[in-house]
Amino acid sequence: FMKAYRLTAPKTAEIVDIEMPRPGPGEVLLKVTGAGVCHSDLHILHDETWPLVPMTIGHEVSGEVAELGDGVSGWSSGDQVLVYLCWGCGMCRTCASGLENACEKYGRSIVPGPGLGFQGCMAEYVVAPARFLVPLGSLDPVDAAPLTDAGLTPYHAIRIASDLLVPTATAVVIGVGGLGHMAVQILTAMYGSRLIAVDLDTSKLEHAASLGADETIVSDSHAADAILDLTHGRGAQVVLDFVGAEPTVKLAADVISPYGRIVTVGLAGGTLPFAATAPPIGLPWGAGVVKPYGGTRADLHDVIALAQRGAISVTVERHPLDDAASVFARLEAGQVTGRAVLVP
Ligand code: NAD
Ligand code: ZN
Repeated sequence: FMKAYRLTAPKTAEIVDIEMPRPGPGEVLLKVTGAGVCHSDLHILHDETWPLVPMTIGHEVSGEVAELGDGVSGWSSGDQVLVYLCWGCGMCRTCASGLENACEKYGRSIVPGPGLGFQGCMAEYVVAPARFLVPLGSLDPVDAAPLTDAGLTPYHAIRIASDLLVPTATAVVIGVGGLGHMAVQILTAMYGSRLIAVDLDTSKLEHAASLGADETIVSDSHAADAILDLTHGRGAQVVLDFVGAEPTVKLAADVISPYGRIVTVGLAGGTLPFAATAPPIGLPWGAGVVKPYGGTRADLHDVIALAQRGAISVTVERHPLDDAASVFARLEAGQVTGRAVLVP
């Protein structure tokens, strides 16, 4: 038996004892070394219609290879790994192109992964298909666990807009929490654009400034004017929204420049009405909106390389798995700076 933090009924999560999982053909049993706590886990916990119950929560996985299922080669007991998030079929045209995060097998819906349709990693052990393991190298497994989503997803979101991130451009990062504080570091490490961080919480803004943000702005009714002032009325070429609430979606639309790109990652339910009307009504000419999911396996390799080089690092607070419920409450109350990681 092992301990796991599970959704035992919709909107109910608790630490329970469950049977140890066994690796099937092509799968690997991992001893979990770190399980990052993502805001998406809160969305799942609050979702009355979440389809898989019971389900162990947790999709930011670092682990040590404990047992190989039939037919698995190339890995040995004791190997330190991260688990790639988007468990595509690996066979369709879209997976072949690298976009396993949009695998055709799942139609127009979310590609599942650990803790997102399969059993997750807030447990002592987790099973994963061997082809989704990526070597951890010399990184600390607790510090590195959030790279699998809080690193991967911003990296992918930024890559989507990389053609616009020239030195004369301005990028706005809305919400500098778990994902956003990584976005600030990736932008700083890879691009020369000016970087404006926006958050409700001034301590998160100070954190973003310490990681490379050039300007910080409190997310209130003056934020749009402040950003337009900083960009001579033109707006920002790239807006990355890691909140996705009504006010942040509106802010993004109000400050995007002509031919700029809004990349909305946060899932807080905001809506952007589309007006096929000449400006100044609606978006400026040429502006686009993208709603990416996760990232590719190649993106994860890149994120690990950046971390190994010391160009990015997750600001981590460590907690025992037993404290999962109180850590979720801390995240919900906005008390986590960077990322909380559960250690079984
Ligand atoms: P987090 O709680 O760590 O960080 C959120 C940050 O946003 C906090 O710093 C908070 O103070 C700030 N914030 C909240 N409301 C704000 C507002 N109105 N204006 C400005 N800042 C505000 O969350 P996280 O783990 O970084 O996740 C962020 C969002 O991204 C969540 O909605 C999550 O579900 C989503 N997400 C999406 C994907 C994807 O692939 N699309 C992947 C992972 C997470
Ligand atoms: Zn596929």
